[in-house]
Amino acid sequence: ATPTAVMVATGKGASQGVLIKGGSALEKAHKVKMVVFDKTGTLTVGKPSVVSAVLFSGFSMEEFCNMAIAAEANSEHPIAKAVVEHAKKLCQKFGSQTETAKDFEVHTGAGVSGKVGDKIVLVGNKKLMLTSKVTVGPEVEDYITENEKLARTCVLVAIDRRIAGAFAVTDPVKPEAACVVSFLHSMSISCVMMTGDNWATATAIAKEVGIDKVFAETDPIGKADRIKELQTKGMLVAMVGDGINDSPALVAADVGMAIGAGTDVAIEAADIVLIKSNLEDVITAIDLSRRTISRIH
Ligand code: ADP
Ligand code: MG
Repeated sequence: ATPTAVMVATGKGASQGVLIKGGSALEKAHKVKMVVFDKTGTLTVGKPSVVSAVLFSGFSMEEFCNMAIAAEANSEHPIAKAVVEHAKKLCQKFGSQTETAKDFEVHTGAGVSGKVGDKIVLVGNKKLMLTSKVTVGPEVEDYITENEKLARTCVLVAIDRRIAGAFAVTDPVKPEAACVVSFLHSMSISCVMMTGDNWATATAIAKEVGIDKVFAETDPIGKADRIKELQTKGMLVAMVGDGINDSPALVAADVGMAIGAGTDVAIEAADIVLIKSNLEDVITAIDLSRRTISRIH
């Protein structure tokens, strides 16, 4: 496209809430044959809430809640915010005071850990428990299986290497997600989901939006590696994401699209920013590119 055509399209995009950073993204977008979506905060609303909590034997509700709050209060993760909010509500019944954990550590894609008094507290997924040599018993396994089937993520709380209880968290799918996926399919563009979350939850969400190709339990570098593998098949790939954990994949993709409500790091890494955070604008961007290019050739 000529510089003028690019300028016109960029202006048109901006007025529709699609921020295109430069001509190259605009020239490539119409050739995209595959769109890879991040799950949390991209296909889902990104505001999870706790829908179930259980206590396993040997611990009090108060201890379980206080330890969860102490560890998660330090975390920026949306799951942590949901856990803190819910645990605080449960705690009110006991009127207990809360302190934050010392020696706080973030385990990317797994959870958090810290110390409260002389107790070690771990809050996160099963992977975190297993790498920390915490036994995940059949009672806990059953709770996980049951909830993951319902597209819920389980947050386990271990105190001194014993699982005290768990929360089940759910993050609803965006209302437009399924419609956008089916529209992309009708444009002969395939859709893929990539997430750091577990396979069961990932598969359930994918099914809900009509995506049949899923990469779960994938760390940030893994997401970028998967994109590169998909590209080796000669296909132009777009990536849509919102998080710091998506930024390597947004850079690796032929067209990186960031959700406007996402983190600054993702917005910087992307070629296109969807200001309104509406997935329909993935189609707006591709369409804008198609129109711009067809006007020239
Ligand atoms: P996504 O790729 O879906 O945005 P993340 O890579 O941020 O997900 O996290 C992957 C998984 O790690 C979460 O689904 C959750 O099970 C666990 N996790 C990460 N951080 C926390 C936390 N602060 N508290 C509890 N669980 C966490
Ligand atoms: Mg995300």
